[in-house]
Amino acid sequence: MTAYDSTPFLLRLSVRAADARVELAASTLLDKIRHKLSISDLPLPLPIDQWIETPLGFDFAIVGDDQLDPEVLGLARPTLNQILIHESLLEHEGRFRFTCAHELGHCILHKSVAEELSDAELPRSGKISAIEHEADRFASSLLMPLSTLAQQLAKVMRDHQLNNSCVELLRGDDVRTVWLWRRCILPALCDTYGVSRAAMAYRFRELRLPGQRRILKPSMISLMVAPEKTLADLPLDRIIVRDGIPVLEE
Ligand SMILES: [Zn+2]
Repeated sequence: MTAYDSTPFLLRLSVRAADARVELAASTLLDKIRHKLSISDLPLPLPIDQWIETPLGFDFAIVGDDQLDPEVLGLARPTLNQILIHESLLEHEGRFRFTCAHELGHCILHKSVAEELSDAELPRSGKISAIEHEADRFASSLLMPLSTLAQQLAKVMRDHQLNNSCVELLRGDDVRTVWLWRRCILPALCDTYGVSRAAMAYRFRELRLPGQRRILKPSMISLMVAPEKTLADLPLDRIIVRDGIPVLEE
């Protein structure tokens, strides 16, 4: 199975074969939700915390230290269809949403793996187990549906008067690449999908253009997730859009 976006924009995005099973599980769940709610378009950001209970029917609770160990922010009991989220995450919309979707991923994908799975801060960086990687991929696919991403990306490009020839710049590694992602795409899409900048950057790192070409180089990820102040040395404020592409003003 390969999940393709078929919107008329220039960018056709897909996932790698290795990620197709989890991508399909997330898109099947979204289809089920749309069917149960009788809606054709997905509202963005997805109200996943509401949907976990209705229409999905999971036992969902936001709890304090009395019910979760101090370092645990999310917990899934797949065989009981139960999800607990720590109340401290309510102050961080992106992390709250991602943790809810990640625990939902455990409940859907990992019924036969463990009776209980718990998580600290998500999304994690560095090496993680295959089970945790799958739950992260599921959360990412669910919250940033492939069927909507190319269209939303196209809208951002239009809003900044950027044209198709920017695709190669998106894939590049110069200062204009940083400008495109950090100044245009990531702020707008994080707002649209209600996810953190790291979650959005990781999503694009996994996506592919036709020919299995990457849309975002893994070597650029550290610049994508770096705090704003670490970009101060880059001449991002001298970049302007001319004839549909960003150029560095002399
Ligand atoms: Zn987990």
